[in-house]
Amino acid sequence: MERLISSLEPDLVRMCNAHLEACRQAGIALVVYCTRRSEKEQALEYVKGRQFSELPKSVSNLIADEIRLWEASGARSGPGSVVTHCHGPECPHVLGIAYDCVPVCEGKAIWKDETLWEKLGALGESVGLEWGGRWPHFPDRPHFQRKRN
Ligand SMILES: [Zn+2]
Repeated sequence: MERLISSLEPDLVRMCNAHLEACRQAGIALVVYCTRRSEKEQALEYVKGRQFSELPKSVSNLIADEIRLWEASGARSGPGSVVTHCHGPECPHVLGIAYDCVPVCEGKAIWKDETLWEKLGALGESVGLEWGGRWPHFPDRPHFQRKRN
């Protein structure tokens, strides 16, 4: 999984850097931990928390080896709970127009500070990004992406 900002599309590189700088000025240190994903990497995210039998063929074909291994150890679904509703070549991470980030303090990721997320989400929006934290049905606070038209 790629975490280099430079792997993103040029407009996203600019917006991501502007977001990091705006956060820095507000005293928030951000770490970008995921940028571009291959379709297979996205499929490995999509399978989390889902039954293998319910996966679209396009997903299960990409990760057939992984599924075989999981099934061999008795699993019928991907590990953990659902983390994404997106699969295939049109996913923002696959297109290189999205990144995931988390605020850090003294080297530790701060996942559960509501106020902090609100601040850094708004700062992302202020540089022109769409923030996953606003999604009503599946809020994804670490996620920022190019605005959809
Ligand atoms: Zn994301």
